[in-house]
Amino acid sequence: MSILNNTRELQRIDAAHHLHPFTNTRELNGRGARIITSAKGVYLNDADGNRILDGMSGLWCVNVGHGRKEIVSAVANQMEQLTFYNTFFNTTHPPVIELSRLLSEVTPPQFNYFHFTGSGSDSNDTIFRMARYYWELEGKPEKSIFISRRGAYHGSTVVAASFGGFNSMHKQGGLPIDGIYHAPSPDWWSNGGDLSPEEFGRKVAAQTLALIDGIGAHRIAAMIGEPIMGAGGVIIPPKTYWPIIAQGLKERDILFISDEVICGFGRTGQWFGCEFMGTEPDFMTMAKGITSGYVPMGAVAVSDRVAKVLIEKGDEFTHGYTYSGHPAACAASIATIGIMRSEKLVEHVREDVGPYLKEKWLTLADHPMVGEAVMEGLIGAFQFTSNKSARAGFPEAAKIGFTAREHSFQNGLVMRAVGDRMVIAPPLTLTRAEADDLVEKAARVTDLTYAYAKKQGLMA
Ligand SMILES: *Cc1c(COP(=O)(O)O)cnc(C)c1O
Repeated sequence: MSILNNTRELQRIDAAHHLHPFTNTRELNGRGARIITSAKGVYLNDADGNRILDGMSGLWCVNVGHGRKEIVSAVANQMEQLTFYNTFFNTTHPPVIELSRLLSEVTPPQFNYFHFTGSGSDSNDTIFRMARYYWELEGKPEKSIFISRRGAYHGSTVVAASFGGFNSMHKQGGLPIDGIYHAPSPDWWSNGGDLSPEEFGRKVAAQTLALIDGIGAHRIAAMIGEPIMGAGGVIIPPKTYWPIIAQGLKERDILFISDEVICGFGRTGQWFGCEFMGTEPDFMTMAKGITSGYVPMGAVAVSDRVAKVLIEKGDEFTHGYTYSGHPAACAASIATIGIMRSEKLVEHVREDVGPYLKEKWLTLADHPMVGEAVMEGLIGAFQFTSNKSARAGFPEAAKIGFTAREHSFQNGLVMRAVGDRMVIAPPLTLTRAEADDLVEKAARVTDLTYAYAKKQGLMA
């Protein structure tokens, strides 16, 4: 075990044998990966003995905080009882039954059916096939096109990356696949110009419906969107945006998919982000918070409208994953939902720590280098700018976001950088004292990054 206690040696072995996701391996290996060894609540410990506030809930997933014994023992007990059995051929098992029932309770009323997967990406691939199959069963096979958005993140499999709106991902692997169109992003900071956020929201919603009408609603199966874009930089759309789009989709008989992988399970202060935005989707993509990240799992919530057609008119739906409804993952999810209910975490986010953190977080925008700061529930961002009134960015080579992320780690806070936008999504168990710690550290990071930018002559 002794070499495994040596940080440099661990980094050497990691560099020699581990190809990381979303990572330039050459750059990483030059620097050495940061090694996280343990975690409790909202704090991480690394191999060099540092204690770091996990402002990202792992990767937007550890909603109930790290190291919860209730989940660990629920998973262990389940694995002693039944480690694995499949849900394919006329079989089922108690944990997947219990979880399906629980999900029908916590999701909006139109959802009473759930299809289980291994991840958010798998879930979106599942919805792609299920939505097309639905329209075939309805006698409208020409309804096969999907609308997504620039700047959206929906996962990394072929369909999910095609749904996503990142050119950098499309470039690798010849994506997007046919039949997926991207509407503009509701990113007011970058694209809003002189419009108020409300006007801008109406404008982008109208552009989206115009794109749909240009293609022809009779050819469109569904539109997918995150209530709040996560990996795209925590883009919180203006309040006007989603209601107009949701209404427009309804009028045109186009299915609506709410990708709730980040916004679901309490992140916005509602159980699901669509409830926060006031929309009524036909599908929900779920993963991450569904097990609080303790065991991998994804799921698709299927509305009664769609499920009824699949059940009454459909044949076998020839789709599924070996680990669909894995007993250990179901146990982790049941325990997670149990904690969320008994600790009233959704209410805690909506009425207590969410508004408390938001008030402090928004003051970050008083800093000369911060253009805007936004937050809803426990998901937020702030944007660096070289000139506030002109909403000017920095040259990419200046690596402002990257520099801030490094300062953040060194000052004991995990924030993620999306370009020059810093994002956070801390565990929903965050206390007021921990929220104070978070904002204090974020403020120190803005000061350090400002000093760097001034020294480099980057401020206007
Ligand atoms: C992370 C994420 C996904 C993909 O989930 P994986 O479990 O990584 O496949 C899909 N949609 C959104 C909104 C996400 O944030």
